[in-house]
Amino acid sequence: MTVDWKKQLKALTDQGASYADVRYYPKEEEDIFFMWNGNFLAFNRSETSGFGVRVLVDGAWGFAASSNLVNVGQTFQRAFDNARSASARIRRPVRLADKEAVRGRFESPCQIDPFEVSLADQVALMKDLDSLINLPGVQQRQVQLSKVRRTILYYDTEGAEIEKQIHDIYPSISVSAMDQEGIQQERKYLPPRLGPTRGWETMDRGHWQGEAERITGELAQLLEAPACPKGRMSVVLMPDMMFLQVHETIGHALELDRILGYELSFAGGSFVRLEDFGHLQYGSAKLNARADATLINSPGSFGYDDDGVMAQDRMLIKEGILVGAITSRQMVTEANEKAGRQIFDGSGGTCRSCAFNRVPIERMTNINVDPGQDGSLEDIISKTEKGVLLSGEKSWSIGSNREQFHFATDIGWLIEDGQKKGVVKNCAYSGMTLDFYRSLSAVGDQSTWQVQYVDNCGKGVPGQVMQLGHGVPVCRFDHVKVGD
Ligand SMILES: [Zn+2]
Repeated sequence: MTVDWKKQLKALTDQGASYADVRYYPKEEEDIFFMWNGNFLAFNRSETSGFGVRVLVDGAWGFAASSNLVNVGQTFQRAFDNARSASARIRRPVRLADKEAVRGRFESPCQIDPFEVSLADQVALMKDLDSLINLPGVQQRQVQLSKVRRTILYYDTEGAEIEKQIHDIYPSISVSAMDQEGIQQERKYLPPRLGPTRGWETMDRGHWQGEAERITGELAQLLEAPACPKGRMSVVLMPDMMFLQVHETIGHALELDRILGYELSFAGGSFVRLEDFGHLQYGSAKLNARADATLINSPGSFGYDDDGVMAQDRMLIKEGILVGAITSRQMVTEANEKAGRQIFDGSGGTCRSCAFNRVPIERMTNINVDPGQDGSLEDIISKTEKGVLLSGEKSWSIGSNREQFHFATDIGWLIEDGQKKGVVKNCAYSGMTLDFYRSLSAVGDQSTWQVQYVDNCGKGVPGQVMQLGHGVPVCRFDHVKVGD
């Protein structure tokens, strides 16, 4: 069924709407496969389709969505009526920052569409990965593979026309076993984004084989390892831990809707205040962080956001000083008004919704830390007197305003007098966000930099689960509280 979306939008402005947009998902497919000890525990395939309309009337948003294309006009009218009802109750009229009316198309780079690979080949690959980790000493094996393919058409009353074709694939393997004290020890591997694409071609067997050998070997060492010592020392975070540190204490802390108090009822707020931008020393001078939605192989790149704003690469923290946030058209205007100065020059293009029936909100794109000048992992270890090298996020607890955190990791290695020593288990570290980043004393070079992904970032009411990336190097922080 063909719908004239632009005509439907015009009907809303004819009634007095100041702005409206529509996102139409002709088809969204998602597969989630989960194999445990060689048996499939989940083999889910879903397909959805529908559209969502957002409309501004007298400064208030209205939203409606439907998977039914028969009475499209009714859904558009419902969004308009919702906005009109809301307009009687708002205290601050919504104003959107200016933008260019873009006409464009984005396709995530993909050589082999994972949805064109036969089910038999996918099952064979998962069985193969399972066989690679089916080694003595491993008690539980997990192989997961999920993938998405979605087409999104976007139109708004300011003239934007955008088509997006998004593919992504999220594989992982994990091995675990009980140690002598009855504590479950685990090693897992979620491949960083190695090449320039994100299709089935990234599932290279040779690469998986090497990583399977590594994690099973590390699990065997963990089962025999002593517990991590407690006390103040340096921590060196591998990218597979650093990404979560950045996610929780830079990414979420710098979402502008949280800073303005809009997420307090669900995901929480932020310790960052509007007066901090341009002044706050967030970290040491070695810290350079950015929101880069142009990193081509990552799930945090999508071409154009759901405000119809083009993907951007913007600094968040420059040489330790807070300079930017994760922003949308609505929030930058409100923040500048509340601050009484122009902090933000337009939207950063990070407004995204996870589905046709959810409203767009500020979401992380790729929240990255730039590589630094402190050499390779070996260089950093060789210049570390006393510390622990940490890998693999295991558990996390974060203050609701992101001002503090506690993380546990799957594995650690002691570092003494510049030497990497034996494996230690049950590792944890904690700190205050600003003190921690101000203690950043070494940032690895490009050889240590990896793009890790997050496929389950939660935010919003009703909840929205989003996918994104983090390009991060190996980093060392000093005088950190290690232990419980
Ligand atoms: Zn998150």
